[in-house]
Amino acid sequence: MLLACPFLSTTHWIQTLAYTSNKEIHVGGDYIQAITADIKWDFNGVLYHEMAHVWQWDGSAGTTAPDELIDGIADFMRLKADYAPADWAKPGEGERWDEGYAVTARFLDYCNELRDGFVAELNKKMRVTYSVDFFVELLGKAC
Ligand SMILES: [Zn+2]
Repeated sequence: MLLACPFLSTTHWIQTLAYTSNKEIHVGGDYIQAITADIKWDFNGVLYHEMAHVWQWDGSAGTTAPDELIDGIADFMRLKADYAPADWAKPGEGERWDEGYAVTARFLDYCNELRDGFVAELNKKMRVTYSVDFFVELLGKAC
């Protein structure tokens, strides 16, 4: 499983911030050089995101979960560890819950408020396959 986490640099190049392949986390040198603020805080946030990819299920034995949900769960872990950057989407922002990254993380945080442990349960259900019906099964309501 290869999960890339691209970001748009100030020069508008699509570069790889970091990615996780199996149990290896790779971090781009360009990303590290571009950090101008608190490098420990920024890097820890990236590691929380990438470590989530090491541990999470993606339904790959059946119907694979959408990449946007996979990265949303990883950003949810970063959010709960209190490493959400100030410029992230705020709760309720975004056009769709499944936009990915911070928007999806905020949506998952809302779901987790409705049902404590929701994201852990969702991840557990995604061990073999993925279905959007998992949201209904866990919350009793559709997305
Ligand atoms: Zn990612």
